[in-house]
Amino acid sequence: MITPKRFARATPEALHRIFTLAESPESTLGRIEQEISQNLLGFLNNHIVASKNALTDIEQDFICPRIPEQPEFVSDHMHHLLDKLVSQSVHTASPSFIGHMTSALPAFILPLSKLMVGLNQNLVKVETSKAFTPLERQVLGMMHNLVYQEKDDFYQTWMHSAQHSLGAFCSGGTVANITALWVARNKLLKSQGSFKGISRSGLYSALTHYGYQGLVILVSERGHYSLKKSADILGIGQDSVIAIETDENNKIDCQKLAEKCRQLQAENIKVLAIVGIAGTTETGNVDPLDEMADIAKEYQCHFHVDAAWGGATLFSNKYRSILAGIERADSVTIDAHKQMYVPMGAGVVLFKDPSSVADIEHHAEYILRKGSKDLGSHTLEGSRPGMAMLVYASLHIISRPGYEMLINQSIEKAEYFASIIDQHDDFELITKPELCLLTYRYVPKLVQALLADCQLSGDEEQQAELNLILGKLTKFIQKRQREVGRSFVSRTRIKVARYGGEKMIVFRVVLANPLTSKSNLHDILAEQCLLAKESETFLPQLLNMAKIS
Ligand SMILES: *Cc1c(COP(=O)(O)O)cnc(C)c1O
Repeated sequence: MITPKRFARATPEALHRIFTLAESPESTLGRIEQEISQNLLGFLNNHIVASKNALTDIEQDFICPRIPEQPEFVSDHMHHLLDKLVSQSVHTASPSFIGHMTSALPAFILPLSKLMVGLNQNLVKVETSKAFTPLERQVLGMMHNLVYQEKDDFYQTWMHSAQHSLGAFCSGGTVANITALWVARNKLLKSQGSFKGISRSGLYSALTHYGYQGLVILVSERGHYSLKKSADILGIGQDSVIAIETDENNKIDCQKLAEKCRQLQAENIKVLAIVGIAGTTETGNVDPLDEMADIAKEYQCHFHVDAAWGGATLFSNKYRSILAGIERADSVTIDAHKQMYVPMGAGVVLFKDPSSVADIEHHAEYILRKGSKDLGSHTLEGSRPGMAMLVYASLHIISRPGYEMLINQSIEKAEYFASIIDQHDDFELITKPELCLLTYRYVPKLVQALLADCQLSGDEEQQAELNLILGKLTKFIQKRQREVGRSFVSRTRIKVARYGGEKMIVFRVVLANPLTSKSNLHDILAEQCLLAKESETFLPQLLNMAKIS
């Protein structure tokens, strides 16, 4: 551990100073503030050096568990943070980092976030948030409108009604999904006669009262892991999330879904919710939502759509129809911190029926009194920041047509990337983009020819062997690329219908960063070709197999 050379002193005066006085513009923190407000991207480019790759090396900088007995000067500490933390963080805004869902942010977000933190409002109750409460309700109304497109008088009636809510603002898609399924559970197992409802009597009494053998959630095998967390927390257990097979386009097979519903009904197991995915995390595909809504209606179960990633597509008049049927969902999750370019910590769950939240209402005497407009009475989280302000500002500053442009650009960039992968001799496109995600892998031309032969002759053994080595090569390239640090593509393992449903390791890209250019995409493929040649085992092995045959 490096010990700072000089120490501040903990005195009442010093403490008063840190609460009241800003750092001077010439101080280290003052200079950082200027730099990030004038040119955030430049600051990130200059300061993120990512020189250490192994997390265990970085851990050595964060090894001391003792709380300091000696205060540090702000400037000294800032040097420490720049050196140990900022330099080794991930450049999520970089145009050549196309492996994750975290992107560059608009410049106005930074000062706005500072204002939000400065105001330090707590949305749990009106007392500590005042105008932020109606603002958040309006944001929920706007997002509800994006999905359900109700008439103006619907919003005039419900948006600010104390006993109703059009949704809940939360920290992200996980909490949004939990909230949606919480509502579904409490609504299904509500009070009846002498039974006080699951929220008071618990799952065992509820199942006994209603005579169900169990509760399950049905979702395609591409469902996000947050659904399993939800099932765990809601007491029905992770194994009660039943994965329904997908078709060759990674969309849920509705025939299999309906079949499962029939079978469960015969066993007296109740389907708590059918979950449609609008933009799967791995491949970005959208389930046939309209058809799923029909099935949910037939079996009278809650229909939830997890549009954490893809929900923002609704801003685009051109591509909105990909999500057709979403307006029939009882609840919808959308992450503003994904394709709405708001910083992390902004998710919403929306409810078709404004009285849905009555089933999860909680009251306390000192706050959240009945009849108050406190948002905390129906949110899972208690104290919450004023993140809704950032969504509100983005909706106004970017506007619907602006978001449409961003969404359209992303989808069309993904289509462009797919086309250059397709045309390239040494790459194979695995999943075509429906939204702005796609998967692919490096397959040298000779090996592609051999794979094609295997398919023709039905030589599944050799095909499996090739795919195994190709998977290792993909992993090798992906890791090397991340270590070199110029660009980043993620990897995942998915079943590929073209190869008989074999699970394969593939590159995964998300093209949501507006700063990513076509030339960035060409560079990434070129770099991957070079990195492949560094492989001393897998590539020669593959080429040998291709030559022998
Ligand atoms: C990102 C994502 C989630 C989880 O959202 P968090 O904001 O990470 O909690 C859930 N479902 C889907 C489809 C997602 O893409």
